Amino acid sequence: MSDPNGLLAGQTAIVTGASSGIGAGCAVALAEAGAAVLVNYHSDKEGADAVVAKCEAAGGRALAFQADVASEDDIAGMFAAAVEAFGAVDILVSNAGMQMDASFTDLTKADWDRVIAVNLTGAFLAMQAAVRQFRAQGMRTSRALGKIIVMSSVHDVIPWAGHANYAASKGGLSMLMKTAAQELGQEKIRVNAVSPGAIATAINKEVWSDPAQAEALKKLIPYGRIGDAKDIAEAVVYLASDAADYVTGSTLVVDGGMELYPEFRDNG
Ligand code: NAD
Repeated sequence: MSDPNGLLAGQTAIVTGASSGIGAGCAVALAEAGAAVLVNYHSDKEGADAVVAKCEAAGGRALAFQADVASEDDIAGMFAAAVEAFGAVDILVSNAGMQMDASFTDLTKADWDRVIAVNLTGAFLAMQAAVRQFRAQGMRTSRALGKIIVMSSVHDVIPWAGHANYAASKGGLSMLMKTAAQELGQEKIRVNAVSPGAIATAINKEVWSDPAQAEALKKLIPYGRIGDAKDIAEAVVYLASDAADYVTGSTLVVDGGMELYPEFRDNG
């Protein structure tokens, strides 16, 4: 149930790419923690409506809103809708992301451009709009003026063959997050990242739904299981809350140990 005394009571969050997977999990967890949530979707209205229903079932307020995060106009419309519905925006979870995979020389410029536009430029545009909104509304219920969490990936540090566009977008996102945190800290705006490892969602369904591929994937995870959206959502709620008031410019890696060079676990 949405907790009126919860960690995020009285606050408002925007979650991009929230009609499925990790974003959907984050939206519901934020609502359970007491936040009103704008559930952004790109094309899956039904999915977004189902997430809104789950937020409401948890006792929270929620609104589905269509926007392409790569469009500056759409981002402006999304923030205006959140302010109109809920009065303010305290938390941005920039989660929307995509893969368009190809071997290095088969990767087309169009697929390079689209992944960078959504995963990196889309985050930049949403973060910029969030900072402007935080400044305009001033201090509210939280110790921070505003909180931004970007959904990065273990591939902001682990190179990934066949995914040059995706890995480059997440590496860039990591530096975007740190630079924004450095620049905006004096205004009491906190900016952090969550780096998921392998989380079972639509983005990697062909891997985890195939038993042989799922077993091979688990060999890369010291903790021995594939993650789920809730694993990531819990980390996002923490970073959005005052419990993390002294945390900025950090990446919270939620990966079952995938970044721990698992090939070396039996002595290399
Ligand atoms: P997903 O495909 O379920 O979610 C991605 C969401 O982004 C979808 O809802 C999609 O509609 C949305 N989206 C795509 N383009 C958009 C656009 N232009 N505008 C608005 N929304 C758009 O997959 P997911 O695993 O839930 O991915 C969520 C985030 O987590 C992504 O940034 C992804 O890179 C990251 N991530 C996922 C994993 C994993 O293992 N699943 C691991 C590391 C990072």
